[in-house]
Amino acid sequence: MKYISTRGGIETLSSAQAIKKGIADNGGLFVPDHIPLLTDSLFDRLVKMDYAERAAEILSLYLTDYDKAELLSDCRKAYKNFDTENPAPTVKLGENKYMLELFHGPTCAFKDMALQIMPRLLSRALKMTGEKKTAYILVATSGDTGKAALEGYRDVDGVRIKVFYPVDGVSDIQKLQMSTQEGSNVSVQAIEGNFDDAQNGVKRIFADKEFSDKLREQGYILTSANSINWGRLAPQIVYYISSYIDLYNAGEIKRGEQVCFCVPTGNFGNIFAGYLAARMGLPVKCFICASNKNNILTDFLNTGVYDRNREFYQTSSPSMDILISSNLERLLYFTAGKEKTAEYMKQLSKTGRYEITQNELSEIRKLFVGGFTDEDGTLAEIYSTFKDTGKLIDTHTAVAYRQAEQYVQKTSDKVITVSTASPYKFAASVLTALHKKVKGSRGVLSPLYELADATDTAIPAPLASLEGKAVRFSGAIKKEDMPDSLFD
Ligand SMILES: *Cc1c(COP(=O)(O)O)cnc(C)c1O
Repeated sequence: MKYISTRGGIETLSSAQAIKKGIADNGGLFVPDHIPLLTDSLFDRLVKMDYAERAAEILSLYLTDYDKAELLSDCRKAYKNFDTENPAPTVKLGENKYMLELFHGPTCAFKDMALQIMPRLLSRALKMTGEKKTAYILVATSGDTGKAALEGYRDVDGVRIKVFYPVDGVSDIQKLQMSTQEGSNVSVQAIEGNFDDAQNGVKRIFADKEFSDKLREQGYILTSANSINWGRLAPQIVYYISSYIDLYNAGEIKRGEQVCFCVPTGNFGNIFAGYLAARMGLPVKCFICASNKNNILTDFLNTGVYDRNREFYQTSSPSMDILISSNLERLLYFTAGKEKTAEYMKQLSKTGRYEITQNELSEIRKLFVGGFTDEDGTLAEIYSTFKDTGKLIDTHTAVAYRQAEQYVQKTSDKVITVSTASPYKFAASVLTALHKKVKGSRGVLSPLYELADATDTAIPAPLASLEGKAVRFSGAIKKEDMPDSLFD
């Protein structure tokens, strides 16, 4: 299996090279040069396997240069860090309504599904490509990704990681999660400024040739843990297939029966991984692409026009507050081809807008439907779901579940909603949705205790254990001092 750029060109890499490199020379994203098949005999084998074995089996179809036994050993280690035996269980909530829970990892959000395994893939990629230097991972974060990356990369061989966050731009809980991070190769640094300052600071470091030479002399190469890296996308294919097989094993669906997945979408990475599973042969009737008030994807799927020249809203589902869904480029590649994709991306960076043809749109609409949930709808969904089923969901999941419920009412299809975060990660919003006032009398973690009291549910261990953990990283620096801080 070779990897090529969504924008064409002659660059052709192995999967290890693609994972180490992250983004193609011409600015495109790496995609596999063909899509492997989920054959009947593979399906038969997966049926009898646990999650880690399924992951190794599916990853080995894409990462053909990796040793399969090593993949299995990595997957075993990655997926034992979850608080459920099956790291990605699917639960039934009602007639034709299911939920795939992806928040049982160490940071209680779905990013763990990829970031627990990707560092191991990178570490192997460094060895396989003969890299002697240490990979220095730089991340600018507005919250969730930083913590998940820190947890994933801590104490991984050949890697060092530094996360920058805006000192006043993350929630108190997120700050506490990061400042208490353990591990010998991790570092966290608050900077004065907002998220864009942190992000631009990191971009400047990457672009500074002289500085990377200096780092090289010290034994480092720079790399990123970005969501467009193939090493983050590939592991996400696994849970779509695994969820289907779990429902088959539970007798909920017949073999070959089509299902729909409803995915709370931001950068289009999660849902695109599902698309690949469908292209492999997983029986999927549709993907419901759920957005919040930033409904640029809903408009795109309805009209074929992608236009980022619009107002940006901050919502109660912040991980979906996004106007450029980077991974949509990969869907364009598989729908319209590399020349058109390059052209659309050029228009996007020039004018902030592009329009696909009606043929391309109808091709995409064979599998994708778009819908969005506004702020009131999100909170109302959390309330009604808890009242009707006793299931507590977070704001991102609620955005999707509302769309799934509307879809189920109109059809006889079975819909699996992808649940991307623990409700405790967004405890204050969830309390508000349940018509509770946040009292805040018990410190930073107060909303968590209050949510536990109000709903008679338990705070997930990784969040509960923040209480009393030592703060290792404190103080904020000026953004000009970011490069120097790499040597601390
Ligand atoms: C990142 C994230 C999303 C969006 O996923 P994409 O792959 O960017 O579409 C949704 N929900 C939560 C909780 C997330 O952290």
